[in-house]
Amino acid sequence: MVMKAKLLDTLTIRQLVDGYRDSGDNGVVAFGGKLNVRPAFQREFIYTPDKRDMVMKSVYDDLPLNVMYWSKNPDGTFEIIDGQQRTISICQFITNDDGYGNPIAINFDGRRTQTFTQLSPDKQKQILDEYKLQVYVCDGNEDEKLEWFHTINIAGEQMTEQELLNADYTGTWLTSAKAFFSKKDNNPALNYRYFDNDRKHSIIAINSEAANRQALLNLVLGWIIETNPTQYPEIKNYMSIHRADETADELINYYKSVVDWVHDVFGETYYNEMRGLPWGTLYNKYGYRKYDTSVMRRAVAGLMADEEIQNKRGIFEFVFDNDKKHLNLRQFDNATKRTIYQKQGGICPYCENTENENKVWKFEEMDGDHIIPWSQGGKTVPENCQMLCRHHNRKKSDD
Ligand SMILES: [Zn+2]
Repeated sequence: MVMKAKLLDTLTIRQLVDGYRDSGDNGVVAFGGKLNVRPAFQREFIYTPDKRDMVMKSVYDDLPLNVMYWSKNPDGTFEIIDGQQRTISICQFITNDDGYGNPIAINFDGRRTQTFTQLSPDKQKQILDEYKLQVYVCDGNEDEKLEWFHTINIAGEQMTEQELLNADYTGTWLTSAKAFFSKKDNNPALNYRYFDNDRKHSIIAINSEAANRQALLNLVLGWIIETNPTQYPEIKNYMSIHRADETADELINYYKSVVDWVHDVFGETYYNEMRGLPWGTLYNKYGYRKYDTSVMRRAVAGLMADEEIQNKRGIFEFVFDNDKKHLNLRQFDNATKRTIYQKQGGICPYCENTENENKVWKFEEMDGDHIIPWSQGGKTVPENCQMLCRHHNRKKSDD
């Protein structure tokens, strides 16, 4: 890949902030209106106030910031490839507006916080006209710019996998998907339906910060592609096929179906163990069946109280497929097994009337078995333990 990139000789903060305008979802411009600060493939502004303050402290102390990268468009305008957050930090401080109309005050000298206009005129001038920003300007076509974007971001702050995918598949579908899944404030997906209306619990273990970094979009895409692995071996296949769709309604409706289904099956009662389960995967596997929901809810309540179950999260799949492997049931400890082994003298009771009748097995050749199985209420207590040879232990647990 041949990219032409050259360092801008001089860029002052005064030049950068000139014409700065934050129009929210409609974009952010600076540099006399010629710099698109937030192009379609950039992530949302995710700097914390701490990080923003760090940027301004570097400027205040005349310490260099990392090099920023812009790409040049054929019409002479520019887009930021890397440096969006630093740019917005600087512009917000200088224009006295944190994006919500509030001034930004920073403690530069360890004594008091100051807004830009509260700094001495000399200091203001030094920041605006003497501080030098380092910017590389890259020339190239769309593909080359994206390639740059990836390369630069691998070296800088790590992008999430989904952020990188989003950079590759911008368009109407992505805009619609992000408006539902990725909003930092009042995220429609996270607010879609709660469990336990008073306490507003969510079965999704993703907070709005992570959703803003595209974690929820990534999760739901991971679920929906399972419904058609031939067409969608990977998330990028789904994004590529739907890229030009007018909306992301298919994905949004799928997500709603998953949440609605969990509500329908398990009701309003919320258990902490429900949070973060692979609900889409469960919906894909079991969502087509009809359930007697009162039976399901009673089953869950009973299993939740069962001390034999060590993996309570597994209950929510066990009630569909009845496979004990999800539950991590209690096993007998070695001390108990040793005691029972001595008592039985190494004899397996199930070997009676077989060729191994009266055979003395080694301890290692036997395993602890629940005389009354868990499914019939048997507990993991010494009185319910017997030692069986491996063959019979396996045979019994298969029954
Ligand atoms: Zn046996």
